[in-house]
Amino acid sequence: MLNKRLQSLEENFGASRLDPVHTSLLRRHNIRLWIKRDDLLHPVISGNKWRKLKYVLNHALSLPADTLISMGGMYSNHLHALAYAGYLLGLKTVGVVRGERPEVLNATLRDVESWGMHLRFISRSGYRRLRQYKHWNSLPGLERTAYWLPEGGATELALRGVGEITSEIGMAYDVLCAPCGTGTTLAGLIAAAPQVEVLGFAALKGAAFLQRDITALLAEANSQTGSWSVNNAYHFGGFAKTSAALLAFIQEFVSKTGIPLEPVYTGKMLYGIYDLVQQGYFPSGTRIVALHTGGLQGNRGFSHAKTIGAGIDGTC
Ligand SMILES: *Cc1c(COP(=O)(O)O)cnc(C)c1O
Repeated sequence: MLNKRLQSLEENFGASRLDPVHTSLLRRHNIRLWIKRDDLLHPVISGNKWRKLKYVLNHALSLPADTLISMGGMYSNHLHALAYAGYLLGLKTVGVVRGERPEVLNATLRDVESWGMHLRFISRSGYRRLRQYKHWNSLPGLERTAYWLPEGGATELALRGVGEITSEIGMAYDVLCAPCGTGTTLAGLIAAAPQVEVLGFAALKGAAFLQRDITALLAEANSQTGSWSVNNAYHFGGFAKTSAALLAFIQEFVSKTGIPLEPVYTGKMLYGIYDLVQQGYFPSGTRIVALHTGGLQGNRGFSHAKTIGAGIDGTC
């Protein structure tokens, strides 16, 4: 049973449509592509963040817990969504943020503080140590009424919420794509869609951990799995790094389709999909559904992002 407060929250969300994309490259290779528009769900609790939080919040409310604690980086869409959800639901929130408190908070952190999130800054090594606590009540020293959420909201309950995406895709398709940070979203899709090929695109460099973390999460949730893999070739130098080619591709895609993208996750995934199409990776006739995970608020961080290299034209 979904808590009434969550039900009424969800009733006010936008609908996540399935938008067909028609561009010349896809036509040439006879590939059909749809974008599952989770970015339309909510301007703040957008995309996969709502999917991952839904049943976690439900669990926390049922206990009942009065405080939600989680961890993330300075531009964390996860903390951003959690702070806002807590604000709407009347739950206290605490965000453990990697690094020293900056003199001037960025827009993401200013937002979360304005929604009442208490920020605690922590060293990189301390942050890494926190990753070992994976269950809601496993954080040492946690108060009895507090609820701990691991990085990226990586829990079995998150997989359940993400799985609901696949039941909304009312058509046959062959490949399901999503960008990966912690891989929690991809794990949810893998568990819910064993009949198709599930393809993740790592947004970070050196993301060999994804294979391991996703496998562990799926095992913990006792999920049946089909064919899945994570592509590590489209991180563009690392998390939140970009290149001229990526930015040109995004600009062209947005102007041709009217679908907004951000360069941290969804932009890199779509660049990867188009590049694979160009290489002939997908057989002619393949039907691809790509998940737009939202996160457009993170675009504001982009004056800080590093651009590497100069690129060729992105061709859609
Ligand atoms: C957080 C986030 C992701 C990564 O999700 P994971 O479940 O951690 O892999 C992808 N896209 C957007 C827009 C995000 O905000």
